[in-house]
Amino acid sequence: MEKIFAATLDKARKTTELSKEDIKTLLAAGEKESQALFQYADKVRAKYMGKEVHLRGIIEFSNYCKQNCHYCGLRYDNKKLKRYKLSYEEIYAAAKSAVQLGYRTLVLQGGEDNHYSPGDFAELIKDIKKLDVAITISFGEHDYATYKLWREAGADRYLIKHETADPVLYTQIRPGKTLEERLQCQSWLKELGYQLGSGCMVGLPGQTLDTLADDLLLLKKMDVDMAGIGPFIPHPDTPLAWGEQGTLEMTLKMVAVARIIMPLIHLPSTTALGTIHPRGREMALAAGANVVMPNVSPTEFRELYQIYPNKICLNDTPGHCRNCISGKIAALGRTVSNDYGHSPKFKGGR
Ligand code: SAH
Ligand code: SF4
Repeated sequence: MEKIFAATLDKARKTTELSKEDIKTLLAAGEKESQALFQYADKVRAKYMGKEVHLRGIIEFSNYCKQNCHYCGLRYDNKKLKRYKLSYEEIYAAAKSAVQLGYRTLVLQGGEDNHYSPGDFAELIKDIKKLDVAITISFGEHDYATYKLWREAGADRYLIKHETADPVLYTQIRPGKTLEERLQCQSWLKELGYQLGSGCMVGLPGQTLDTLADDLLLLKKMDVDMAGIGPFIPHPDTPLAWGEQGTLEMTLKMVAVARIIMPLIHLPSTTALGTIHPRGREMALAAGANVVMPNVSPTEFRELYQIYPNKICLNDTPGHCRNCISGKIAALGRTVSNDYGHSPKFKGGR
């Protein structure tokens, strides 16, 4: 096993075109081999993405959602959750303070909430763009015309994870939805010139090593600009409450292999990783990741945006989070980027 691992890592040093079997071998690495995997991924990150870490400020604008994803605390059937939605003025105010704190990218994230009309949301995007900041939308599935409207309003990127590349598991955990529809959304977004963010959860009940390898191959096939790879964390008020949490080790291996086979993508060290381990985010930054997405939502609403439980930084202010994360990045010998952090594949637009 160790020999096969060493041979596969050697192959990875020569080519980014690894087979599914190769990827499975790397993901099956034991503790010692994993260290070699992380070190190599860190080297690839340093060579292609440099030592800058890009910070993306997340504004969680609404926890209303019409979907019923089995893994997520914001699902429609979770009647225990107190719902909130920020007004356009509140979203704009959060955006303005984040820009004042130095953020050059903002992520507008929410459940699939019908309270915001596509047209009004487009006006909000236009207003926020005037603050001289890159905008990522993470607002689920919409039709082509809506994505087009928001792109024309100035949105730069869209984050919509494929969640799992197993089409059967996908429909089980996202009732009424298909992987094909999700990928259709991703293709539209690319066609419209968005930088595309995708990703998956690690450790979903029913997921196998085979599926995880497929997740990485799908990211490569979709030619994504960013991949958010985080552990599944069971939420008590969801149908998957009984599931086991995804592990730190497997999530780090997924991040590392993603970096090795896709050297030029942005790879966040996810908040979910920071939630399952106090140094989870630092470990991912040392295993291929180059992005962190601190929360810039008003503190009073953070507690209500619990996609998964025990999310970190619930009582912190945006200013505190920025300082805290900048300190962690400096301690790793890395620097916080001052530019928009567009996809390197994207120079001059698609
Ligand atoms: N509604 C939008 C954006 C908000 S959900 C959407 O679904 O795309 C953002 C991300 O949270 C999802 O893509 C999913 O990967 C993650 N997520 C949801 N529930 C989770 C859980 N229990 N553990 C870990 N990540 C979770
Ligand atoms: Fe809604 Fe997104 Fe949660 Fe699914 S994952 S229930 S779409 S917020």
